[in-house]
Amino acid sequence: IWQSVPLAPPDSIFKLTAAYKADTSKDKVNLGVGAYRDDNDKPWILPVVKKATQILLNDETLDHEYLPITGLSDFTNGAAKLILGSESPAIKEGRTVSVQTISGTGANHLGALFLSRFYNWNGPRKVYLSNPTWANHHAIFRNVGIEPVDYAYYDPKTIGLDFSGFIQILKNAPDRSIFLLHACAHNPTGVDPTPEQWRTIAEVIKAKGHYSFFDCAYQGFASGDLDRDAWAVRYFVEQGIPLLVCQSFAKNAGLYGERVGALHLVSVDQDTASRVKSQMSVLQRSEISNPPAHGARLVSLILNDPELFEEWKGDIKTMAERIKAMRRELRRLLTEELHTPGNWDHIVNQIGMFSFTGLNGEQCKELTETGHIYLTGNGRISMAGLNTGNIRYVAEQIDRVVHQ
Ligand code: PMP
Repeated sequence: IWQSVPLAPPDSIFKLTAAYKADTSKDKVNLGVGAYRDDNDKPWILPVVKKATQILLNDETLDHEYLPITGLSDFTNGAAKLILGSESPAIKEGRTVSVQTISGTGANHLGALFLSRFYNWNGPRKVYLSNPTWANHHAIFRNVGIEPVDYAYYDPKTIGLDFSGFIQILKNAPDRSIFLLHACAHNPTGVDPTPEQWRTIAEVIKAKGHYSFFDCAYQGFASGDLDRDAWAVRYFVEQGIPLLVCQSFAKNAGLYGERVGALHLVSVDQDTASRVKSQMSVLQRSEISNPPAHGARLVSLILNDPELFEEWKGDIKTMAERIKAMRRELRRLLTEELHTPGNWDHIVNQIGMFSFTGLNGEQCKELTETGHIYLTGNGRISMAGLNTGNIRYVAEQIDRVVHQ
């Protein structure tokens, strides 16, 4: 038994990290990892998370009983307000459904599974994904029998958004198609629509009756402001566009391994919301029974205590500002000091954890093989992997491979 199981290829990001670890060069730099690092290249435990952890440790009333199937309600209520807005009419009208999930990945999975079971399909089961997108999106939808189809998003010529291509596909897709949209800080390109472009996108989506599947893994990380990064989602809700949102606290709270996330679905009325929630509960029961407690308790404290919440906003700013400073410095080094051929403005125009450099596959390979700089073959770099100690070296190496 099992002899015929084919060997699967290793995950490309984790493979990259393994190669980086095995490299003995003192110059090596890991720009593949999608996790925040401080200026000393170390993981950062947010001070507010340390404080909340201490509060939990001292709380004698806590135990290790199961959470409800749909999660800790103080957490899911706070999380819904965070993404939809504390004054959201949809929340006040009781027509939102919020379920605690295994971080953003679990939210994507539960959202996809719910659609596969209950969406009113009137043709082949398809989801439109941006080209490119987070690679896991393809696997998550395929796993539940929904076939991914690409929509135009990134334009290599401008290293920016292919807005007209995107709008064309929105218009040409069959009515009531499902579109996955990155709420902010698009992974992997770092290219987001402007508010004006979002308005046009919303208009077409509304006219066509499309369903919006928002993925929000970086709220606060893009601009440093939690509300600003939730703008597109809130605007769509305001416009009455049917949608769900996958939410992760991995990046903005630095809780990667704790797997804290939520799925929020905005429906038309309270009655529909309770039927949807009952079915999500059934799906969740057969998959994980009950979500994990610790991380949800931490985030719940931070979301519901005004002082901790303010402190968290400061911590988020610290991370976002460091990343923005690295963007400015990398652009400055390439254009003003090294006079590297090409226009590097996209590095400061892109947003969030990642930047699409525009480097080609050969140049990326060269950077890794002779420069000991690890990045994905599509030219994506994690800005969090840059720091004051390695940024000049990275810029010089980019300059070298561009000249070759
Ligand atoms: N969606 C996107 C676009 C992401 O980039 C990520 C993290 N890489 C996730 C979802 C999910 O991450 P997690 O499960 O760690 O919350």
